[in-house]
Amino acid sequence: MLATRGYAAKGPASPLEPYDFGRREPGPRDILVDIMYCGVCHSDIHQVRSEWGASIYPMVPGHEIIGNVTEAGDKVKKFKVGSTVGIGVFVDSCRECGPCRAEEEEYCEKGVTLTYNCYERDGKTPTYGGYSTRITVDEAYAHQIPKGIPLERAAPLLCAGITTYSPLRHFGVKARDQIAVVGLGGLGHMAVKFAKAMGMKVTVVSHSPSKRDDALRLGAEDFIATSDQSVFKKNVMRFDFILDTVSAGHDLNAYLNLLRLDGTMVMVGLPEPMLLTASALVDKRRRLAGSSNGGTRETQEMLDFCAKHNIASDVEVIPIQRIEEAYDRTVRSDVRYRFVIDIASLNQR
Ligand SMILES: [Zn+2]
Ligand SMILES: [Zn+2]
Repeated sequence: MLATRGYAAKGPASPLEPYDFGRREPGPRDILVDIMYCGVCHSDIHQVRSEWGASIYPMVPGHEIIGNVTEAGDKVKKFKVGSTVGIGVFVDSCRECGPCRAEEEEYCEKGVTLTYNCYERDGKTPTYGGYSTRITVDEAYAHQIPKGIPLERAAPLLCAGITTYSPLRHFGVKARDQIAVVGLGGLGHMAVKFAKAMGMKVTVVSHSPSKRDDALRLGAEDFIATSDQSVFKKNVMRFDFILDTVSAGHDLNAYLNLLRLDGTMVMVGLPEPMLLTASALVDKRRRLAGSSNGGTRETQEMLDFCAKHNIASDVEVIPIQRIEEAYDRTVRSDVRYRFVIDIASLNQR
């Protein structure tokens, strides 16, 4: 095993603290990656605190990983030593089912192997994420980071980026469509950048009026603050598509009514159960759908799109010693728009 330094939670109420563990020696199709940056996703916090059900401890979180290849197995084709790579939400899958063969592994019928808080395909070896100095991964589940994207700003593309890029592609949203991005956080700010680069007319819908300037700066043409409830009446049937990134409970029916005939609203957050009134769909033949992150093919496509259109995440880089403060601020939505850990700080104890 390869000695690796990380930060781990020992239980749902424990703070993250230094944790030494082992990574597997790279096999023929594996690469060993020295991690440079790892984004802080809101789902890290949910899992560390066991808010989504049984978590596996000790837990080394992190699934927005950027690093350099330091070793490559004999059969590795995509990368060589020195390649800069990204690793996202999953590190393996069954490789046989329909979604896996279509490179939509996030929907693997047997379940993906998540980058952390999961077990390898053997069902017993825990996976550990990117709050650590290095990781061994099968090359099929790593992505080439194109030149030109600042690396600390590339990390959040591996989760926040692909999660918002994928539905804009999959649901056939067209250039010049009127779209609303609901929520301007880590996910929402990426959605605005992608939609603008794809030529869509973007409106940000947020509960906090203070985000107006940022929304316009990021590329939105309009901004709606829901602190004033009358906006739901004023904007009825305005949009072709809504990307709903909010993870707190909200009135789905009010948002659905903002869609035109045949409009689609896609949820990428995971709020608590909410009430849906059928007429909000039926009256205007509207669709409500959901979308997870994205598979390996689409993730590479998204990274190449970012390089071509000069897109990266807006980040605040922190040493890992400030992770607890970063978690508190993420929970309060007090970050513009993603914390990214400088993993070099792990060597300074
Ligand atoms: Zn994430
Ligand atoms: Zn599969």
